[in-house]
Amino acid sequence: MGTLDSFNPATGEMLGTVQTADPGDVQAAVDAVAAVQPFWGELTPADRGRYLRRAAEILAGDLEEVARLVTSEQGKPITEAHTMEVVPTIEALRWLADEGPEILAERQVKMGGLFLGKRAVHSFEPLGVIGVIAPWNYPWSIPFGEVAIALMAGNGVVLKPSELTPLIGDRIRQSFVKAGVPEGLVTVLQGAGDVGRALVESSVRKVFFTGSVATGYAVGAACAARMKGAVLELGGKDPAIVCADADIGNAVDGIAWAGFANSGQTCSGVERVYVVADVADRFLAGITAAAERLAVGDPQDWTTAIGPMVSGEQAAIVTDLVDDAIASGAERVCGGPVEVPGSPGSHIAPTVLRGVTHEMRIMREEIFGPVLPVVVVADEDEAVRLANDSEFGLGASVWTRDRAKGERMSRVLEAGMVWINDHAYSHAAIQCAWGGIKDSGLGRSHSEFGLLECAEVKTRTWNPARSRDFWWHPYDETLGRAVRASAGLLYGGDEPRVKVLRDGGGSLLRAGARTIRGGGR
Ligand code: NDP
Repeated sequence: MGTLDSFNPATGEMLGTVQTADPGDVQAAVDAVAAVQPFWGELTPADRGRYLRRAAEILAGDLEEVARLVTSEQGKPITEAHTMEVVPTIEALRWLADEGPEILAERQVKMGGLFLGKRAVHSFEPLGVIGVIAPWNYPWSIPFGEVAIALMAGNGVVLKPSELTPLIGDRIRQSFVKAGVPEGLVTVLQGAGDVGRALVESSVRKVFFTGSVATGYAVGAACAARMKGAVLELGGKDPAIVCADADIGNAVDGIAWAGFANSGQTCSGVERVYVVADVADRFLAGITAAAERLAVGDPQDWTTAIGPMVSGEQAAIVTDLVDDAIASGAERVCGGPVEVPGSPGSHIAPTVLRGVTHEMRIMREEIFGPVLPVVVVADEDEAVRLANDSEFGLGASVWTRDRAKGERMSRVLEAGMVWINDHAYSHAAIQCAWGGIKDSGLGRSHSEFGLLECAEVKTRTWNPARSRDFWWHPYDETLGRAVRASAGLLYGGDEPRVKVLRDGGGSLLRAGARTIRGGGR
């Protein structure tokens, strides 16, 4: 076992030290959770919901303390720590407690046709222990939501937070302990990628992984090799399309928020803007003014909009991509690296680029910084074509006053989520499914679909004790004729039905009698 120090990216101050797990100890940690989980899994969803409701009440009381911790350890402005991290998880707990029992309730299956008379239900059984592997960019809301959903479905959880945000990871566990969930039901294993890998390779029944595409592929392959499921929430390159009829003021404000919040370190942040030529000048003037208005500084200050980058390495990746675009002909309209007095952290002022082309790396690779490359297009069709020309497919937005047009575009945009006149907010609305297509991932978190990802769907059927199915032995000609007649009756048109009743009615009656009388034995 080793240790891991946590640092404040704004001040460089050391915030604390945690013990790291050894990859060789991960299986034992999973076994310990598995020993506690059955008790939890046997509670009714409504009872589990009571714990989550309690967790919500406690977290509402702890809101300020948790938000300060998120800002201290990850660097996002304190306003965003409230609006984008902690408050949505209180809402999530409430939603799970309110709606979870109904979503997880056993469902009657509608039987019919050949199976008329049978009874069947689908029930949703806990998987056992679920592994959650989290990134550093939303170190509270992403893993918290996944842990809460896994618990609601009756599972135990082992969480591996990012090594950049270990204290936040442990604080998630404490939230559930404070709410009284059984000791040991949620465990946090600290450490780097080797601990994450050991968790994937352990006996956890499913992995919720959020992180980069490259690691996501490795996690998905490792899960497949062990016949276990994985929900993969990976990178994004979200386009925003500003239509000729957009409300430009609103589009500017919304895209500035979605591109620059969390210093652009958001998987579903706007990373490409396609603006129709008719309104391009107005949009560019507006977005530049909006970018220049945002205060870069101390993230603990309520008026700060842009905090430090999570690390110097992250800032260097962003600067490299911007420099590459400029070297290839793009123009920086505003923004770039800045010094913040009293802060040794790496800061990048909101950056707008114009003259960008689709071949540039900045339009293909994830930026993960406060940078908006703007491309002027002839019309909305060109915008959609370029938007879809990407290996990513997480989110996309359309900015228009014409709802029908927005809906039409939303259907053809290749993304897991499309917002009209908004962007990305639904991560905070846990009732909405979250997830991408293409390289942006597999499966869904949040919503009823996320809850069902945490459950094994079991089919249970019932027959009266003395009933027999007509397809059981013995096989004979009567059975053959009856099957043909049934198919004609059930699936044929009017003419075949008449023929069936004329030619095969007798066989049907004999076969029917056999199911009641026990096959003539
Ligand atoms: P990484 O893929 O580097 O890491 C994610 C997590 O996986 C970390 O906890 C990391 O540990 C761990 N890890 C690293 N290697 C392995 C491995 N071989 N097996 C298992 N776990 C491993 O991503 P980042 O932390 O840099 O997160 C940023 C990425 O996450 C971006 O691409 C972003 O787009 C994406 N993301 C996607 C979201 C979505 O909803 N689709 C939401 C948020 C982010 P450690 O880093 O501690 O060593």
